[in-house]
Amino acid sequence: MSRRVLIAGNWKMNGLLSDGVALAHSIAERAWDKNCSLLVCPPATLLMAVGEEFADTPVAVGGQDCHVAENGAHTGDISASMLADLHCRYIITGHSERRADHGETDEIVQAKAKAAWAAGMAAIICVGETEAEREAGDTLSVISSQCAGSIPDGATAKNTVIAYEPVWAIGTGKTATPDDAQAVHAHIRADLAKRFDDDMAARTRILYGGSMKPSNAADLLAQPDIDGGLIGGASMKAEDFLAIADAVPQDA
Ligand code: PEP
Repeated sequence: MSRRVLIAGNWKMNGLLSDGVALAHSIAERAWDKNCSLLVCPPATLLMAVGEEFADTPVAVGGQDCHVAENGAHTGDISASMLADLHCRYIITGHSERRADHGETDEIVQAKAKAAWAAGMAAIICVGETEAEREAGDTLSVISSQCAGSIPDGATAKNTVIAYEPVWAIGTGKTATPDDAQAVHAHIRADLAKRFDDDMAARTRILYGGSMKPSNAADLLAQPDIDGGLIGGASMKAEDFLAIADAVPQDA
């Protein structure tokens, strides 16, 4: 079953207007002829300007988070429909930084994924174990529980992408070994098959995130159940982000 690889950049809370536009420009001019889909999720303040740089290029834009409500008295928040209005195609939900900094529970993440769908976008639902959970041998049970709680009923390969992001690997320079990451991805796919069906599981993309960079991308992306990357630090350098896209196997 072939799944189109997705290489997604998460700029987090980085970038002012001039840097963001310059970075988007450098990515856009070398984004052609990649063997994968490309996505950039800049801070919301840059979405319009960055979106203009990516207009008529193969690079899609996405949001890093959304509120569960469509509109209303939620000062400082941004709704999924506002992101759709700026041509976002995806919204990241449940990133571990939001789970930690904003106390987002699986229930909230699930509601945000549904909000993304309702506004016509796909949700990139993030799951991942902490270092303590890994050391206790609980990785697979933590991942199963986060997937069960965060992925809404009604998930399809079109409206949902899963990102496996071990918390201990995010922004630390530590990466899961390709074999360890593959084992977790295969486990997530087996869970999807049990809960939904074999076809949905076979078609749904599962990205790896956690210090992915040009030097380790090829080995990670060569794994049969790793369908792309969610990339933080390395997505802030056009050369590195594009080198990761170039590491996608030709037969992917
Ligand atoms: C992320 O923020 O989703 C991420 C994976 O960050 P980094 O690539 O910097 O580890």
